[in-house]
Amino acid sequence: MKKAIKEQILFVLEDDNEVMTAALDSDLDEENKEMNRDLIKEHERIIEKVENGEQLTALDLQLIHDANEIHLNDEIDLGQHHKQAVMLDKWLEAQKAKKRPWLDKDGRCLKCGSKVSFADVTDTLVFVGEEIVKRHDGDIANRNCVKCNHPEQYPEYEGYDG
Ligand SMILES: [Zn+2]
Repeated sequence: MKKAIKEQILFVLEDDNEVMTAALDSDLDEENKEMNRDLIKEHERIIEKVENGEQLTALDLQLIHDANEIHLNDEIDLGQHHKQAVMLDKWLEAQKAKKRPWLDKDGRCLKCGSKVSFADVTDTLVFVGEEIVKRHDGDIANRNCVKCNHPEQYPEYEGYDG
């Protein structure tokens, strides 16, 4: 990972965390505060991964993308990070393309043109005894074109390609 990319990732996550931390002291309702706390933790987890040079998952890339968006849309560059945001956006696109080389950027199969795909998601559940106390959303894996790989199931979904 290039130094400039790493710096921008750390910047957007820390910047977003600052905004969300400030919102915890506002009169935001409890449900939203809880969501903020969860997202702050997720961001901290990604920051640690980036600092340790660990592999980022599709979900990590998505969260970085979301945090970067505000700077990407800041075309008059009030936050002075617009140029870096454009660079990070291109990098994120390239990383996602590497993870699913058979799809175009709109999620269309390059071989047959179908937009329908299956994917597996493996969530991690936290059990305390027999009780599930927490669910961590898993990463999307094994995404593949239904028409090319499961033609017998395709008729059921053909309407989506209409
Ligand atoms: Zn296909």
